[in-house]
Amino acid sequence: MTTALQTHNIEAIENSLTEQFTEITQVERAVYQRVLDGFITHQVNEQHFYTVNGYAHDDMGREVLDKVYAYALQSEAALVRPHFVSGTHTIATALRGVCQPGNTLLSLTGRPYDTLEETLGTRGSSTQSLKAWGVNYQEIDPFNTNGQLELDDVESSTINKIVEADILYIQRSCGYHPTRATLTIAELKQLISWAKKANPNAPVLVDNCYGEFVELDEPTSIGADLIMGSLIKNPGGGLAPTGGYIAGKANLITQCAEALTAPGVGSDGGMMFNLTHTMLQGLLQAPTAVANALKTMVLVACLFEANGYTVSPVAAAKRGDIIQRIALGTPEKLQTFCEVLQHNSPIDSHLTPIAEKLPGYADPVIMAGGTFVQGSTIELSADGPMREPYTVYLQGGTNYTHGRLVMSRLLEQLNKLNS
Ligand SMILES: *Cc1c(COP(=O)(O)O)cnc(C)c1O
Repeated sequence: MTTALQTHNIEAIENSLTEQFTEITQVERAVYQRVLDGFITHQVNEQHFYTVNGYAHDDMGREVLDKVYAYALQSEAALVRPHFVSGTHTIATALRGVCQPGNTLLSLTGRPYDTLEETLGTRGSSTQSLKAWGVNYQEIDPFNTNGQLELDDVESSTINKIVEADILYIQRSCGYHPTRATLTIAELKQLISWAKKANPNAPVLVDNCYGEFVELDEPTSIGADLIMGSLIKNPGGGLAPTGGYIAGKANLITQCAEALTAPGVGSDGGMMFNLTHTMLQGLLQAPTAVANALKTMVLVACLFEANGYTVSPVAAAKRGDIIQRIALGTPEKLQTFCEVLQHNSPIDSHLTPIAEKLPGYADPVIMAGGTFVQGSTIELSADGPMREPYTVYLQGGTNYTHGRLVMSRLLEQLNKLNS
């Protein structure tokens, strides 16, 4: 299926990508300017780096971190904390903060990311799920068989579901869905205005994981009421060692802060464990980290497409996140891909990934990522289920030079499997 590709062709392929790379750089510059203006507007200074212990009331660093994040994410307010243990915890907190018992929560983008099923109560029997708390969960799926957003000719029963919902939920990234596309900001805007026309009052929450700083605008600037994400993905810039953020309407942020801590405490307490400094530094680095990841993904898409593989998105496509899917075709190739990536990582390069059964997955999953922050996916990392068509999900790459080097070594090894 593939023809041998000489690695020196990478340079030729790069030259053919000038237009895409220039576009990525232009977004990076504009986003960087906004993020930097956030630091300047809120006068970040050295005092903000000193952590306050105990109740940590009046921690100026924590307050300024929230303000700079709100500015960078085009939002009224934000809650940025190392106390969020993961993206899932951050999203779960936002849902608990916004949903009241008896409410109906409607997903506008089909079944959400796997790890949220127990939060919703669609899987398992946790006494802490939204379902156990009396929140009714519904979903609609607006994607056609090609995985593209399709809002024409929707049935009136679908519109009724929107009208009857109290909270609307959108997942921007395709996550690990095999077919659905990631929503661009233009598509998100279309989806949000369509839903708000039917129901102007329900707040719209967007799972923004993997989408931050990929485009000039964030969902909160085009109609979303709240966005949530993980700091070991895009906005942490590869530096934040943990944490999550929620950003959006100030009244909703207050509710979310009370769901994270306690009513009456909200965002006014909570030690930052000396992390404010690194979180701010990571945020300033994030637009560049995301641009490097995007350039790596565009290069990979073009290289593998030139070698006869099916890639999604294709190199020329407009991107809404930092994930690249490549159908490798055989289990050996998926294994080799993950092995080479791992062996060319700065950390744990001596390890060889093996496919393993994971809870909640039908097929064994293989994962590679020799990252400074465990499980970080803004750093170059890959994973995929051991099943047809042996698709690898590649993401991240805070440094384009590293991504490029790994890709040339990868193609060398994959081509050996063809001969
Ligand atoms: C990563 C991710 C999450 C949260 O996952 P965690 O591993 O808990 O951080 C949620 N939604 C999407 C689309 C994601 O990519």
